[in-house]
Amino acid sequence: MKKIAIMGAMPEEVAPILQKLGEYKTTEYAGNKYYEATYKGVELVVAYSKIGKVFSTLTATTMIEHFSCDTLLFSGVAGAINPNLKIGDLIVATKLSQHDLDITAFGHPMGYVPEGSVFVKSDKELLALSKEVARELEKNVIEGIIATGDQFIHDEKIKENIVKHFNADALEMEGGSVAVVCNALGVPFFILRAISDTADTDASFSFDEFMESSAIISAEFIMKMVDKIIEQ
Ligand code: SAH
Repeated sequence: MKKIAIMGAMPEEVAPILQKLGEYKTTEYAGNKYYEATYKGVELVVAYSKIGKVFSTLTATTMIEHFSCDTLLFSGVAGAINPNLKIGDLIVATKLSQHDLDITAFGHPMGYVPEGSVFVKSDKELLALSKEVARELEKNVIEGIIATGDQFIHDEKIKENIVKHFNADALEMEGGSVAVVCNALGVPFFILRAISDTADTDASFSFDEFMESSAIISAEFIMKMVDKIIEQ
């Protein structure tokens, strides 16, 4: 039987998913809570990691290694870089990078360490399924590059710098690390984000206003992805 991990970073990102599941079992493990449920004949493990690359790495690894999940879906919010992305729009990551990984002093490109790669690509089949979901939901969904780092970005100059190095369409704080984990462990992954802000000087206000509604938009799409995966 399939076992799908659904991850967010913050409680608000997984609350709408848990609400949809109704009944679930809570297990405490490695300093976090994991919610297990059976949904339309597949097993789901849901968790929020806490914010940032380290916590999201821990949670993604735990969901795969401890809970034996074989597919990972991430639902959450992000700051937009691409001007076509408005509040509440969705971005599906085609590939992800770590924008704050910097050993350029040794002549390496930003986001690169030896034996790693600047970008990790998302799973092609899940991307294809998401196109079908987007069509059915009639949602504005952009496919693009997500840059991840351990900072809440609220500065035009930093945004420009991230575009310069990664040509990113959106930025957040967990996707790039989750991608590294899934890639290394051979688990197909899908990272979806709804826009909560535009990573400019007003970003924290915009985030506070729209994080919850955008998290719901992302969660709805993710549950449709789960349905599509089950239909396969
Ligand atoms: N308000 C929260 C902190 C939010 S940090 C608190 O006080 O607890 C921002 C979260 O949303 C991260 O999980 C990140 O992935 C995402 N995010 C949204 N907009 C972002 C931005 N402009 N820069 C970086 N991450 C952003």
